[in-house]
Amino acid sequence: MKKIAVSPRLMSLGESLTVAVDVKVQARIARGEDIVNLGVGQPDFPTPAFIREAAAQAVEAGATRYTPPGGTADVREAAAQWMRERSGVPATATNTIVTCGAKHALFEAMAAVLSPGDEILLPVPYWVTYPEQAKLADAVAVPVRPADGLKVTPDDLERHRTDRTRMLLLNSPNNPSGQVYDEAETRALVEWCLAHDVLILSDEIYGCLVYDGVKPVSPASLGPEAAARTLTVNGVSKAFAMTGWRIGFLSAPEEVIEPILRLQGQTTGNPAAVSQAAAAAAVRGPAEAVEEMRRAYERRRDLVLEELSGIPGVDLVVPGGAFYVFPRVAEAARAAGGSVN
Ligand code: PMP
Repeated sequence: MKKIAVSPRLMSLGESLTVAVDVKVQARIARGEDIVNLGVGQPDFPTPAFIREAAAQAVEAGATRYTPPGGTADVREAAAQWMRERSGVPATATNTIVTCGAKHALFEAMAAVLSPGDEILLPVPYWVTYPEQAKLADAVAVPVRPADGLKVTPDDLERHRTDRTRMLLLNSPNNPSGQVYDEAETRALVEWCLAHDVLILSDEIYGCLVYDGVKPVSPASLGPEAAARTLTVNGVSKAFAMTGWRIGFLSAPEEVIEPILRLQGQTTGNPAAVSQAAAAAAVRGPAEAVEEMRRAYERRRDLVLEELSGIPGVDLVVPGGAFYVFPRVAEAARAAGGSVN
């Protein structure tokens, strides 16, 4: 029988490389192989007990039905308060919604404001999902390589500006480099965006996981003008070890929230009711659980850095956040007779 034709939009969509690596590794682990799986950004901690207990109670109390598409009033308030207090984002229960993970929030943000042919600037290195999501939104992903180091400057952005440049994706702390933009660096990028009418999509999913006293800065916290041009994404997956619950947060100017609520209402319906209750408990809960995991990641980072720095030809920039190390291995590879593109 003739095969069903796939839509052109999905024909050109790449698979999630991180998911693909994870599926392969999981299959080998299931066959009994002893593998340390570093292929996917997944905390190895279980979700803290107080969150699991809150979820169990919520189910007993009736969190088993549809909720409004953007989440219950309670979880929207909890998410907004958390983003306000933690990151200085002017989030309220009205301009903040709950999504099925940060990944979903990022896609919806792009889908809501990008028109066909619009260009979205992606500072290199970037999480591999961004360009594919941009494609789904019929937009054009424009990689921006820093002239120097692992962070972009306004000059780097300026080299890629065209009259179709519509959005800058900022991911600080960054996956995969672990780099964190400080206040002056963030402010410079925001000012460039404001000057050229470029929106900012700020992926702050690793915002709680920072080391050595480093402080990430939310673009939307830098004043009302910045907030009016910024869509901020956060969530509970990484900081609270809740990847499987699938809850993200999106705070944005209200004119963007309204179409996204329609999109969500017509697609996923709502994020799982029990996960919403768990996320509300997480962000309102005691800080110690997150802090304990953060300290463990810091110790592991230090160990990995120490071991890597002992290998000749491996060049390191210390990651200030997230749980990744992004070493330059070209020298070491050449010394071993290999090559690196
Ligand atoms: N942004 C970045 C930079 C990530 O690394 C990830 C997960 N790997 C996400 C977003 C997605 O988070 P979530 O699991 O909440 O969809």
